[in-house]
Amino acid sequence: MKSFLLVLSMFSVFAILAGCINESEVIKHEFALAIHGGAGTILKSNMTDEKEKAYEDILSEVLNEGYRILNKGGSSLDAVQKCINIMEDSPLFNAGKGAVFTANGKNEMDASIMEGNTLNAGAVAGVSHIKNPINLARLVMEKSPHVLMAREGAETFAVEQGMELIDEKYFYTERRWQQLQNRKVKENHDQSDLHNNISEKFGTVGVVALDKDGNLAAGTSTGGMTYKKFGRVGDSPIIGAGTYANNKTCAVSATGHGEYFIRGVIAHDIAALMEYQGMTLKLAAETVIHKKLTAMGGTGGIIAMDANGNIALTFNTEGMYRGYVYEDGNPMIEIYKYEK
Ligand code: ASP
Repeated sequence: MKSFLLVLSMFSVFAILAGCINESEVIKHEFALAIHGGAGTILKSNMTDEKEKAYEDILSEVLNEGYRILNKGGSSLDAVQKCINIMEDSPLFNAGKGAVFTANGKNEMDASIMEGNTLNAGAVAGVSHIKNPINLARLVMEKSPHVLMAREGAETFAVEQGMELIDEKYFYTERRWQQLQNRKVKENHDQSDLHNNISEKFGTVGVVALDKDGNLAAGTSTGGMTYKKFGRVGDSPIIGAGTYANNKTCAVSATGHGEYFIRGVIAHDIAALMEYQGMTLKLAAETVIHKKLTAMGGTGGIIAMDANGNIALTFNTEGMYRGYVYEDGNPMIEIYKYEK
């Protein structure tokens, strides 16, 4: 048996070297998790050591929690939700506690979650009194016959499910409030440039994971974009745009200028290239981000994972807070522009 396995693995190595089969068809991870904390103009030159360390610390806390859940046999869905909760509870990210402000000084949050095994999905849009919108998205998936619920209706459903509504004041952070004031000064700016011209608008969070049972899941949570019109909904709660998961292909979570991700159906396009064209995850992600999104004029990026746990972290901005961990428990964190 041992010698058979040895011959098989030698064959695999030769086959990869000879280009007969793709690497992703051979390497099968026991489990894997990848995270993002938003993409945008994230330049080393604008970063203090202190700020960089604060991001690295929390990203590694998130990866450790994801590893802990998946290593003990937990589901990818639980790992996605719990990891997003940590980032939602941190003021560093544009989700939950650190959500950005709308043009009229409110916080309206969007979130979605999807499981690759069943293609079940749940999402919420424009909620203002939910501490962890990803938890409500999961309740929509598991406890309602619907996929997407919005605003007051979503919050009424939350109460029915025993969730507590919290005071809007919880979401006030000085940093996000100042970003809104700065943005207001530039009020006459071209609205189409909303995402490109504001510094520090990034911070949406997302997680994709593969568990020991071979199931993929994806989730995304955001405050949207600073100075968005009230009632505006971005890509993050739109299944197929900001979030997608299918065990047959991949799990995807996106971040960036949501209008482009909706019009480009970015997350599902990556899965579709894999399903219908037989592309690898990496090629599909690069095609959709660097060819399609960039050509449309959109900015942002994605984290994605195939059913073997291979990861793509692809973006066309200066940086994206991102990280991943495999079964070896070695977390990797990256911020600036170089890609895996
Ligand atoms: N995609 C989010 C939205 O458009 C924002 C972001 O990821 O920065 O609402």
